[in-house]
Amino acid sequence: MRFRVLFTVDYEIHGNGHGSPAELMVEPTARILTQFDRYGARLSVMADVAEILRFRRHRDETGRDEFHYEAIRAQLETAVRTGHDVQLHIHPSYYQSRYQDGHLAQDYSAYDLARVPYDRLEAMVREGKSYLEDLLRPADPTYRCIAFRAANWSMNPADAIVRALAANGIAIDTSVFKHGKRDGMVHFDYSGAESDLVPWPVDARDVCRRDPAGAVLEFPIYCEAQPVWRFLTVNRVYRAVQSRLNPLPFDEYAGAAGAGNGARRGGLGAKLARARDLLLARHPWKLDFNQCSGAQLVAALRRIERRYADHEGVLPVVLIGHSKTFTAWNERSLEPFLRFVADHGDRFGFGTFRDFDLGAFRRAAA
Ligand SMILES: [Zn+2]
Repeated sequence: MRFRVLFTVDYEIHGNGHGSPAELMVEPTARILTQFDRYGARLSVMADVAEILRFRRHRDETGRDEFHYEAIRAQLETAVRTGHDVQLHIHPSYYQSRYQDGHLAQDYSAYDLARVPYDRLEAMVREGKSYLEDLLRPADPTYRCIAFRAANWSMNPADAIVRALAANGIAIDTSVFKHGKRDGMVHFDYSGAESDLVPWPVDARDVCRRDPAGAVLEFPIYCEAQPVWRFLTVNRVYRAVQSRLNPLPFDEYAGAAGAGNGARRGGLGAKLARARDLLLARHPWKLDFNQCSGAQLVAALRRIERRYADHEGVLPVVLIGHSKTFTAWNERSLEPFLRFVADHGDRFGFGTFRDFDLGAFRRAAA
């Protein structure tokens, strides 16, 4: 095997604190687990522990399990018991969120994880890691929380979060995707990332850069720069509609094309120029199993195999998805990709972050 396919799914409700955890987390994740079990595929659930603990607090304070904490807890245990994995995701805006008319009104002062002070981040990471390990070790005594994904992928400035991860023995971050840029409620530019695929030890000053002595390894979400027509799939339309229905207060939803801000007015000439720019430019195309078709995912895996033919050792191919947008269309579309990986065991395998020899990546970067 040359490449291990890692399916990560961000396990959470909508970013504005709306939506039912039963519908957006538990039900779709149950479908993913059932489907994956047929192929021996393994899911890495990136569980937003900040919201899960907030759901539990609501139950404890009111005596009503309105956010389905018990079902979430049981699902995470089941996942680990049946050979899947659960790792740490944190949306800091849940800590001071307020219950209001059936949803959790977010603390937008803590929305951008990379700008939360070190002491608070360290406490969040410590609490999240202990929560997962206490919960999941009875289901799998070898369970360890070793990997992290930042809310909204926001890792720069990296110093505080990288130190908080290192202080808690979390050896992997999986937030960066090469070519990615945001300039709204979070700010980052990952166009200079060290690699689109090969893990690197991160420089705490800039997560995109390599520091051979860095304590945390970046496992990037695989991403290519692609023209806009690659983005036209049924599920992207579904996701765009979902985002419009659940808007954030200050941001346009950072959509696939990353465009959409700036002046929308202007005459026909300006409109045509914008259309031309959109068509000619390349945009970050993440390996997103909610948004790409199975055929697109297979084609990307073949490109990766060609591009990294000379690389030694087993490489991770990190895919991303979201439970909240995993539709029946996704299930059908994913089948050929799962079959392709399962049928080519000499070249590809399924796996989790816990399957890698992290020392090998450090030695290669030295
Ligand atoms: Zn998230």
